Amino acid sequence: MSYAFRKHDYNLNNFERCPQHGCVMMQVQDLPPVCLIEWLLENAAERTVRDVIPREQGEYNLPAVILDNGFMLPVEQAIRVRPAAPMELTLEEVAGWYVADLLSMPDKDAVAVELLPPGAVVDEVPRTGHEDPGVLLQLSVDILLYLLFDQEIRKVEP
Ligand SMILES: [Zn+2]
Repeated sequence: MSYAFRKHDYNLNNFERCPQHGCVMMQVQDLPPVCLIEWLLENAAERTVRDVIPREQGEYNLPAVILDNGFMLPVEQAIRVRPAAPMELTLEEVAGWYVADLLSMPDKDAVAVELLPPGAVVDEVPRTGHEDPGVLLQLSVDILLYLLFDQEIRKVEP
């Protein structure tokens, strides 16, 4: 069975909300609901970038980052943290970088990860004038939910 993806398939108002993060939870049939943020943390936290798929080759008309465990992050926008500027995502730029942080804005249903080069650490107290090497990837919540749904439905309909 295939589940062709269409953008905005999901009305996020129809989803249960995670009491801890306020983000949406995916529930398929009688399986326990899965929190989107926890699922992302499990699959992406501290993983390193293995590959970057450019928009033209992306399955969903978006660029994607493939982590070392094969997990895919669908990227709506890549932004250099400081100085803040949108950027083109290339493998040369972020190969070997790691997922240092996961940021979620549940009221906007937006999720982003911060990538840092090997050895760099998240700056808890940003200093002014400080160069932050990080790159923020704003992720497509629609596609993440689709991927999570796909994972869950395979548990009941192998
Ligand atoms: Zn949660």
